Amino acid sequence: MRDTSRRTVITGLGAGLAMAAGGACAAPGGRRIGYAIVGLGRYAELIMSKFAECDHARLTALVSGTPEKLARFGETYGVPASHRYSYADFDTIRDNPDVDVVYVILPNALHAEYTVRAARAGKHVMCEKPMAVSSSDCRTMIEACQAAGRKLMIGYRSRFEPYNRLAIDLARKGFVGPTRIVTSDHGFNAQPNQWRLDRALSGGGSLMDIGIYSLNAVRYLTGEQPVEVSAVESTDRNDPRFRTVEDRITFLLRFPSGIEATCVSSYSSGHNIYRVTGTKGWIELEPATAYEGQRMFVHRDGRTEERRLTPSKGQHAGQLDHFAECILNDTRPLVPGEEGLADLRVIEAIYRSAREGRRITLTA
Ligand code: NAD
Repeated sequence: MRDTSRRTVITGLGAGLAMAAGGACAAPGGRRIGYAIVGLGRYAELIMSKFAECDHARLTALVSGTPEKLARFGETYGVPASHRYSYADFDTIRDNPDVDVVYVILPNALHAEYTVRAARAGKHVMCEKPMAVSSSDCRTMIEACQAAGRKLMIGYRSRFEPYNRLAIDLARKGFVGPTRIVTSDHGFNAQPNQWRLDRALSGGGSLMDIGIYSLNAVRYLTGEQPVEVSAVESTDRNDPRFRTVEDRITFLLRFPSGIEATCVSSYSSGHNIYRVTGTKGWIELEPATAYEGQRMFVHRDGRTEERRLTPSKGQHAGQLDHFAECILNDTRPLVPGEEGLADLRVIEAIYRSAREGRRITLTA
């Protein structure tokens, strides 16, 4: 239990700083960038509802294999029948000038194919995490977007979440002294009978889906790339959920400056927390990467303070607007394809370490 009685609450500090870093430049001429959503599942449903909060992005097209969903969401969000596509006629989206961005929200194993097809159709691409199921697929996606002269961004929404932005700023500026240790735990109890538990569609288990938040957070909190990985996997293969994918995988990362990170990834227990410990104190977020409800505690000089921010825009709208502004102003996204590739390279090393029972060194 927390000892809240000894904690001071600091309200509002860093909110402006945090949101400004999300992309502050104005869109010229007020043009809104048009997004097509590919795959109308649960997360897509949430994303579609967030365009209402956007200043620079709008929903202009839908892609699905289910005509009923195309009709239902088309009517809800005012997307006309002419802007609704099946997977078979997806490539004709090239002829739709109202679509600037294709946002891929499909099962992981389909990300590469739809990113490449979207780039070839002349569209910019936002792709959900994990970017793909292998680092070689990530490279193919990056090359396809480069060849088409189009931008690629990965849906790392926490980079647009104000508490996470403040944590990055405080940690990297040494507010609690130089960082020594980061712990980052992410997990949930996976429901049976879903594509996430089918390796052919997911590429892996908890690490691909939720453990990637542990990994991505330690990378953004430190601003460094890991040089060494050790991992231990623990999966009950008698549990019908885990016939083809892993349940728990715990990993240790070493960074060039000497920082160490210990991370949990789980499909059988709930976790959503990280703590950055420096020589003079620590910064903690719980929940850390949830859709909402972040709480931040900062401990320094023997005192623990709660930081409270009042953000003007949510992380999902922040993410959609950021990529729109990158296109309008021809700037590089905060989380380009290379970020997704960096995570996939570490994920592959984590799996290899667990499989081979040894430390894996990562080269630049
Ligand atoms: P979901 O199962 O709810 O939706 C997946 C959609 O893909 C469904 O509409 C399904 O019909 C469609 N689909 C097309 N081809 C398919 C096929 N061959 N097999 C199965 N489904 C197929 O999944 P979701 O939770 O929306 O996840 C989609 C993607 O979004 C994943 O990559 C996931 O990692 C990512 N995601 C990201 C976040 C985030 O916070 N950034 C949250 C949830 C999901």
